[in-house]
Amino acid sequence: MGSVISNYIVIVSISGVLSVLLALFAYYKKTDFLGIRAFVISSCTSAVYTFGFALELSGETLEEMNFWIKVEYLGMPFIAPASLIMVMHFVGLESLIKKGMRAALYIIPFITTLMVWTNDYHHLFYKSIYLRDNTPSPLVDVVMGPWYIVHGSFTFGCLLAAICFMLWQWNRMKRVYRRQIVTILIGLSLPTLGSFLYLMGLTPYGMDPVPIIMSITSTLYIWAILSRGMLTAAPIARENLFESMRDGVLVTDRSDMLVDYNRAAADMIEGLNSSAIGKPLAQLFLNAGKDALSYVMDAEPLLREEREVAWNKGDDICYYQIRSSPVQKQEGYLAGQMIMLIDVTERILLQDKLRQLATMDSLTGIYNRTYFLELSRGLLVQAASDRSSLSIILLDVDFFKSINDRFGHQYGDQALQHIVQVCSRHLREGDLFGRYGGEEFVICLPDTSLKQAAQLCETIRADIEQSVLYTLIGSINVTASFGVVEALSPEATLEELLSEADHALYSSKRNGRNAVHLSQRSEITLFMPI
Ligand code: GH3
Ligand code: MG
Ligand code: MG
Repeated sequence: MGSVISNYIVIVSISGVLSVLLALFAYYKKTDFLGIRAFVISSCTSAVYTFGFALELSGETLEEMNFWIKVEYLGMPFIAPASLIMVMHFVGLESLIKKGMRAALYIIPFITTLMVWTNDYHHLFYKSIYLRDNTPSPLVDVVMGPWYIVHGSFTFGCLLAAICFMLWQWNRMKRVYRRQIVTILIGLSLPTLGSFLYLMGLTPYGMDPVPIIMSITSTLYIWAILSRGMLTAAPIARENLFESMRDGVLVTDRSDMLVDYNRAAADMIEGLNSSAIGKPLAQLFLNAGKDALSYVMDAEPLLREEREVAWNKGDDICYYQIRSSPVQKQEGYLAGQMIMLIDVTERILLQDKLRQLATMDSLTGIYNRTYFLELSRGLLVQAASDRSSLSIILLDVDFFKSINDRFGHQYGDQALQHIVQVCSRHLREGDLFGRYGGEEFVICLPDTSLKQAAQLCETIRADIEQSVLYTLIGSINVTASFGVVEALSPEATLEELLSEADHALYSSKRNGRNAVHLSQRSEITLFMPI
């Protein structure tokens, strides 16, 4: 038994040294973790308690031991509330720790210390304290007084509250911090369990195991601190920031495997759940479509440029702006990539709509006059530089006013859509088709001579004439008159060409309508199909 006790004293002393080292380390470490003060208090008071206990064990007389017990109580009552405050900082509940609350938590320990030092006068803490008679080395036993129970309940209460706070935060903390939480939880639970067993009289030789357990707790804390940087930041704050971001964030390692993601990313990417961790990024982008996948496949992780990609999400198409940035460890080496996904669908759709409004005619869905002229000017320049041919057709619906008058404006609109449909089926991909004015249309034909354009015009004219529009209130027969011109000189401007085509069109109108006239070197002739 004697050697057991001396071994015990050695272990307890090592535990005390550990607590001192931990307190010093935490005190001198530059950190933004606000719970650091509570941590230093808990480590220092732990050290006082542990050394006091070692000296109590090595004491020979009851007086000596009684004195060292009093020394223990300079530290021990403060460990639990200090640990509770540290945990509250850790889990992001520091707003609850007002000055008053902190003082309140330290009042009971303070009274406990006073009670122990003045116990001889009132016996409220220990009813009696005596030496056990059946042990080879002197060991003290006590009979609890009422304040002992207050102190015990308070200590348990603090530790249980700390454990509950940690468990409560479990779901809010991401995997990366879970190991840290488990470590701290074990650190908190062990002394709680130890004192419980001690109070139930279930420990070997009735010895208090807590001072030794405190060394394990200290070691666990050191491990948590060193391995996870517990003291370098309040992880919950970072976690909350990460999780509350509206933009999706994916974190990959150096081999482009997914390491972490936030809630927004899970909402944005179908099938992103914890099972995707450790899988290649490309796999995650696979279902999103070609555009998204090419972001991953086209370039090395470090060379990926910011891009907007179309993203298939169920039956919808979303647009994400994707931005990658390298994640560097403190030591400077590359740890992986952080990929940010910003949902820009609304902006892209709005831009599309604006572009549509600015360039297309809303009734017929073909180019509006402004956009048609802009594109045609480009083709004309191109044709001049390529020395290739280009022709222009102007088309005006015949007696359209009377169609409106007979059938109503609504059917007039339908007739315009019908004509656009008929014309469109004769146009090639590179041809431009626009609404020039009310019931006038314009076609720009690159790589097309006057003869070819006239032939096409004639085909369209005949098709319009033959394509009757059947409506609920009767069938509508429409015809149109045409004017065709070819850009013969590279200097010809679009305005000149349109004016010539307009003259030819006017000739078609004057000569009975439903006809094609060509303008050639200011000469206007009726086109006679062969
Ligand atoms: P012409 O054979 O000489 O071209 O006779 P027209 O009746 O076609 O010519 P006019 O220029 O006198 O009339 C054109 C009519 O087209 C007048 C206008 O009310 C009608 N119009 C213009 N834009 C629209 C439209 O968007 N929808 C409908 N329903 N009618 C339109
Ligand atoms: Mg007309
Ligand atoms: Mg007209």
